[in-house]
Amino acid sequence: DADRLINPLKRADDADAALRPKTLADFVGQKAARENLRVFIDAARHRGDALDHVLLAGPPGLGKTTLAQIVAREMGVGFRATSGPVIAKAGDLAALLTNLEPNDVLFIDEIHRLAPHVEEILYPAMEDRALDIMIGEGPSARSIRVDLPPFTLVGATTRSGLVTQPLRDRFGIPVRLIFYTEDELHSVVTRAAGLLGLALSEDGAREIARRARGTPRIAGRLLRRVRDFAAGRSEPVNSAFADNALNRLEVDRLGLDAQDRRYLWMIADLYKGGPVGIETLAAGLSEARDTLEDVVEPYLIQTGLVARTARGRVLNAGAWKHLGLKPPAGQSE
Ligand code: ADP
Repeated sequence: DADRLINPLKRADDADAALRPKTLADFVGQKAARENLRVFIDAARHRGDALDHVLLAGPPGLGKTTLAQIVAREMGVGFRATSGPVIAKAGDLAALLTNLEPNDVLFIDEIHRLAPHVEEILYPAMEDRALDIMIGEGPSARSIRVDLPPFTLVGATTRSGLVTQPLRDRFGIPVRLIFYTEDELHSVVTRAAGLLGLALSEDGAREIARRARGTPRIAGRLLRRVRDFAAGRSEPVNSAFADNALNRLEVDRLGLDAQDRRYLWMIADLYKGGPVGIETLAAGLSEARDTLEDVVEPYLIQTGLVARTARGRVLNAGAWKHLGLKPPAGQSE
């Protein structure tokens, strides 16, 4: 699954860093998020305080890490990054926190995957800028409080529903990222082509934008693959060239790849369009349920091809059409 061209999760060959916008002004799209952050950053800077804690929620590849770095840069402070599953012991997190410089940004990716005993030390850290550390064992054990420098925790999650309530309550600035429009992705692609030194026509950029599933990371990846196809070409890459390259990469006109189509086919073919439960689908496709829910389904649901109902997943008319099938009799078109 990691090999999927359109998997929005990070891959080793992604040159994410090179394409990252460095300022809020360069960050395309997410207008509401940007405007909110602008106000809070300016106010915090004006007061000389750390920015309040920020929770960034949304599907992978939409710019959470990028925004966290931008926050640090705009605040003029240091940036430290880690991720939920990496922090095994409470002591590891305590070490990170006590090493921060005043007003630094600590970025915790996949914050919904923090172990509970690690998460607990974040509560007083976020609320009171303090760590409660246990010293000794048995009857002589006591807890001492260590003060922390002011800092900003920026948490990122692809599953905001899995962030516990006590943790969620401690973020003053919740930010939800949404899929990008085609126009926004057009800007992302055009900007990235410039950075990569690729001559790309306006309609060529549009062809890539249309197939990037609302996700800048995928736009960047498709662009790099199209560039590989264009090696040695003298004219700018136009839409016909991009279309051909993307077809050869098996990314279809909606940006779906073989795995998405397999998912749709399974519901259409084996389950007559559904409803079918997520566990059944995961077993049938030999995929982790999390992968389906985090990576495959959000875009299929967002585009209206699939609906999530109380009884399971259901194909909508657009999916039947996209597969070139007629919905079963009795099912609305
Ligand atoms: P996430 O942390 O949400 O998985 P990232 O911040 O790592 O996503 O972004 C993935 C890629 O997409 C990076 O290469 C980044 O440069 C690019 N990107 C994300 N958001 C934007 C944006 N708004 N404008 C331009 N490029 C973006």
